[in-house]
Amino acid sequence: MNINMKESVVVAVREAPYRNTGMQGINDIERSVLEFSRECPKAVIVDGTVYSFDHSFDSKVSQEQLYRTLIHPLVLKALAGYDCTAMAYGQTGTGKSYSMGMSAERMSEEHVGIVPRCLKDILKYMNINDQKENHAAMGEVFASFIEVYNEKAYDLLAVDVNEPLTSRTHPRFTGGTCMPMKSQKDLLQILMLGTKNRHVRATNMNNNSSRSHAIVTIHIQQGFQHSRLNIIDLAGSESVRRTGNEGVARAEGVFINMGLMGINKVMASLSAGRSLIPYPSLNSQCSLTLLVCISPHASDLNETLSTIRFAKNAKQMKITPQLSQQ
Ligand code: ADP
Ligand code: MG
Repeated sequence: MNINMKESVVVAVREAPYRNTGMQGINDIERSVLEFSRECPKAVIVDGTVYSFDHSFDSKVSQEQLYRTLIHPLVLKALAGYDCTAMAYGQTGTGKSYSMGMSAERMSEEHVGIVPRCLKDILKYMNINDQKENHAAMGEVFASFIEVYNEKAYDLLAVDVNEPLTSRTHPRFTGGTCMPMKSQKDLLQILMLGTKNRHVRATNMNNNSSRSHAIVTIHIQQGFQHSRLNIIDLAGSESVRRTGNEGVARAEGVFINMGLMGINKVMASLSAGRSLIPYPSLNSQCSLTLLVCISPHASDLNETLSTIRFAKNAKQMKITPQLSQQ
């Protein structure tokens, strides 16, 4: 397997489809602030300024192309025993959940997002299927689904979803209930339960689920080796933003809100090459792929520029992938 270990933080942008508000006449459709050029396929031009990333996808990219180019390499790393994280960041409505594929609804193949595509490939590579006897299987696969809201993590597959996960009540906190996965049907079931519980929690707690982060983790168990692929649908960037904080501080807000630890510590430990972060798999030894979803609308330009700045900062993080241990 040819795995690129040098590029441990990969950053990509994806343009959201143009929202047709029905407000404009045919002749005065709002001008898009985003441009993509054939000459610079890794760049996006935002309001005339060129920003380069590892990948740049315009609104015409398919779910399959996005998965093949950006995420499939992470799946290969996870199968090789490395902890990996794919994370979507951006303003509400720009296609984070659509891209990550956390929806429990059945949809046509072209719209299927990242989570089911990852599971499909992982089960295929590991020879796992839903036949009763899996003699040829090369290990086991599990999935968990948690929500992070207001610096606390909640197990969306637990009986009591309103009880936050803490290391005190859950001394072996490994990111929530793990359900065995043998087929897409198993995944659909946990996505349905998790989504329902997310709504119940949002209603009970009087909060808005676009302010919370959703994390699906696919656990790959091969002999003594246990690696995790985290797929994170972050809260809308506009709700994560903290007044007066820009640049690196802006990136900090996300991590603080994720309840992991202040990004000061995260950034410091990452740049010092230490692994202090107590959340499983989001540490300096984990490969990170960040998908930033941006709006083409002029009215969203400020949020888009903030998102681009966040993406530029994320690229500065230093991560050294290491083989995961049980
Ligand atoms: P977010 O999670 O960032 O708030 P969503 O993923 O919910 O945004 O996307 C908003 C709406 O736009 C949804 O109805 C979604 O299905 C649709 N959508 C987003 N991106 C695409 C795309 N590339 N192609 C088709 N529909 C999309
Ligand atoms: Mg969403």
